[in-house]
Amino acid sequence: MSGPNSPRTSHIMPNYNRADLRFARGDGAWLTTTEGEKYLDFGSGVAVNTLGHSHPKLVQAITAQAQKLWHVSNLYEIPEQEALADSLCENSFAELVFFGNSGAEAAEGMIKTMRKYHAAHGHREKVTLISFAGAFHGRTLAALAAAGNPAYLDGFGPAPTGFVQCPSFDIGALEALIDDTTAGILIEPVQGEGGVRDVGTDFLRALRALCDKHDILLGFDEVQCGIGRTGKLFAHEWAEITPDVMAIAKGIGGGFPLGAVLTTQAVGEVMQPGTHGSTYGGNPLACRVGSTVLDVVLEDGFLAQVQDMAVYFRQHLARIIDEYSDIFAGLRGSGLMIGLECVLPNMDIVTALREAKLLSVGAGENTLRLLPPLNVEKADLDTAIAAIDTACQTLREAQTGEAS
Ligand SMILES: *Cc1c(COP(=O)(O)O)cnc(C)c1O
Repeated sequence: MSGPNSPRTSHIMPNYNRADLRFARGDGAWLTTTEGEKYLDFGSGVAVNTLGHSHPKLVQAITAQAQKLWHVSNLYEIPEQEALADSLCENSFAELVFFGNSGAEAAEGMIKTMRKYHAAHGHREKVTLISFAGAFHGRTLAALAAAGNPAYLDGFGPAPTGFVQCPSFDIGALEALIDDTTAGILIEPVQGEGGVRDVGTDFLRALRALCDKHDILLGFDEVQCGIGRTGKLFAHEWAEITPDVMAIAKGIGGGFPLGAVLTTQAVGEVMQPGTHGSTYGGNPLACRVGSTVLDVVLEDGFLAQVQDMAVYFRQHLARIIDEYSDIFAGLRGSGLMIGLECVLPNMDIVTALREAKLLSVGAGENTLRLLPPLNVEKADLDTAIAAIDTACQTLREAQTGEAS
């Protein structure tokens, strides 16, 4: 009674809906199952595998570091952590960095930092963070309270207070929510889980002005849209404004668990010894991997190539949407953070694509995410387009078959 298909009792908590697939290895944009079947991975572990699978530079970096030193506590200086923080700060608005291990931990660290900033300046009443409908900041209680999706909080007892959601990307509605208790605004420049909703450069600029006007902090959650996903290192660069605080994770580790809170000097300096911490956060192994991801993404021409590939892919996707208007309704997102608005239930399309050997990810508002690795090759984009065409044909035949 053993073997991959025999019934067995799983000891894994049942909190995920899993597809019936087991992968044994990955190479670039491709995954191979334990049975030897190949899938084109345009889910990238949900925007995590920035450089695809088994990138030689990442394999080399992690192997070399593993032979030297994996983990030491933040009780000591960690040069690998210093190096990654230097590189993040040289290439962003940031002057200080805190390292953790996940997106939720980064969002949580961002929330704590934003509140502490006001407390340290004599404003303990300024605790409220305003976020937006459709937001996702992770699964810790505070991150769930910030996002405000009641379904995700159900059954988990009292949620942390001090969070308010703005129902739309509307500056008037947002300003009406600001009062003496407001600490700041939390937003994903491009919402991921919520449905690949790009909030737009005008809105981001208006947010910056609003925060300056009311002396509150602007916090960006770039856990999904950061690290080159949109064709700039950070999505907010398209708007030519900067936040006071930013959470990153997913893409920075390229598959190794790593997250960070980036801040200006004025904001981050309030996090004095004892205020916050993370046992694993910023260990040598994680930081060597993170630095290597960042080095590749910052290589000359890399982000320009992301933009070129995005234009190419989006042109073909636009043609597919035109041709299959009974299946798709529109295209969303920015760069290689691609959302397809679905007419049919999105998860039916995810399944059909998977049967055509293309992996994608569902998202809110009945959209489907395509998140290829950032170093994707044109040939793989062509393969994906062919797979989408095949899946659409199959879906259409199933529809007309049902109708007749
Ligand atoms: C995925 C995600 C998170 C949570 O990241 P985890 O690593 O799952 O904790 C937070 N914010 C955004 C925008 C995300 O996409």
